[in-house]
Amino acid sequence: MAELRLREDQREIVKKLVNALSSAPWVALQAPTGWGKTLTALAVIKELGARPALWLTPRLAISLHVYANAINMGLRTLATAGKEKLCGFGYTTLDFARGVCRGCPLNKPVRLGDLKQLSGSLDFGRVKEYAESMGICPYSLQSMLERYNGYDVVIAHYNRVHRLIRAIKPRMVVVDESHNLVLPTIHKIDARVMEVLLGKLGFEEDEIGQIIKSPETLKMVLNEMIDALVTIAFEDNDLKPIIEEVVQMLGCQVWFFDGSDGTITALELPSTNLSTDAQILYMSATLPPSLLGSSSVITIKRGWVVPIKVDAKYSFTVENVRARRDEMVRYIRSKFLKPSTLIFTTASREVLLGGVDEVVWEDDLGSKAPCDFRSGILALRTFGKFIEGVDLGCFENLVVLGYPILPPDAMRRLEARGVDERSLAVMKSIQLIGRVVRTATQPPQLPSITLADKRFLQIKDELQKYEIQAQLET
Ligand code: SF4
Repeated sequence: MAELRLREDQREIVKKLVNALSSAPWVALQAPTGWGKTLTALAVIKELGARPALWLTPRLAISLHVYANAINMGLRTLATAGKEKLCGFGYTTLDFARGVCRGCPLNKPVRLGDLKQLSGSLDFGRVKEYAESMGICPYSLQSMLERYNGYDVVIAHYNRVHRLIRAIKPRMVVVDESHNLVLPTIHKIDARVMEVLLGKLGFEEDEIGQIIKSPETLKMVLNEMIDALVTIAFEDNDLKPIIEEVVQMLGCQVWFFDGSDGTITALELPSTNLSTDAQILYMSATLPPSLLGSSSVITIKRGWVVPIKVDAKYSFTVENVRARRDEMVRYIRSKFLKPSTLIFTTASREVLLGGVDEVVWEDDLGSKAPCDFRSGILALRTFGKFIEGVDLGCFENLVVLGYPILPPDAMRRLEARGVDERSLAVMKSIQLIGRVVRTATQPPQLPSITLADKRFLQIKDELQKYEIQAQLET
């Protein structure tokens, strides 16, 4: 396939990035979706001869997009996946904790000679096919390829960063979609279910009460008892998916009790401490505010603004919702609950939409897609699963109900990890608005977008830097 050619404006940016990297350990590129950041960054890798380069992404679909562009640029590339995605038997993290690999018939040494026939670029699907035809473990084959096959570019999920920095010693690291550095992934377990689990682990009732009140203690206890948890998972089918979730949560940095929905909640952030001497290139259509303020950032504007309204009648804090619930419910019904409306909100504000039959909730979607409800009213979670990689432009109205931050305790602890309240609110708002504004070019008509909470006024100017023009709703 012919090598992809860069446009003149992309070549200019390549030059700027290469120059910037000669005097700074990191640079950042903010450019609209569809502008061609991937090609530009690949050209920087080529220009600098920065091989191997490690390219980090949050999802396999993005990895494949980078992979396709990289091979078209003539770069030998390996797109990798995690163990649970590659396993020839479809085992999960819990199965691995149980030690299934020890008795696995595919768990055989991979010979360096086996790698010779795999000299070209490979994605994770091909790695799996080759490994199975060779009768070896796909994940082991991938590990050997990473280490010994000398790729120009290795693409991996954020979670694999430390392992790959050790294995391939990259000369450059590209952090793709780097707005995710300040957007935690949220895991939740109902506190009552957690009590059942602790009971199964042999704790007495009063001990359970104590442990539940202190989620970080709970995390340490569960970490220590991982073997017992795995045993329970294979004895009790009902608890198995919950224990799967708990095991995932054990890798999260912040655990807290969320009183608004009675859950033990865990926050997972990609590692920002890359512990490498490699040059770093951050990229996103919306870089976090902390990066945007630096002189090492190159920004390409979209050239048109997204108009939005801020409805500042109320601050939908937990206390205010408790105190003024009825009048808020009336206001929301009269103002926002109309056909073709998508609402993003959090558990503490769900009561404000309660009792309205027309509202369909995220948990009620079943096998249907959100756009199947485009003529009605759909309420999705601000920190739920439809916040990234999904196009919801099928709705005529978007309402973000409530300032999108986490409870004060959790916010303080995130702040200690470099994520302040303002940055989270800005990035979260942009992320949610991005669900209904998906095109790089200005569409003939945009949905009506309202941010409903007085506190959005605090970030009005910040949003302007991302070409989002907020007007106060009167
Ligand atoms: S050795 Fe590989 S194929 Fe076998 S169970 Fe483990 S991950 Fe799966």
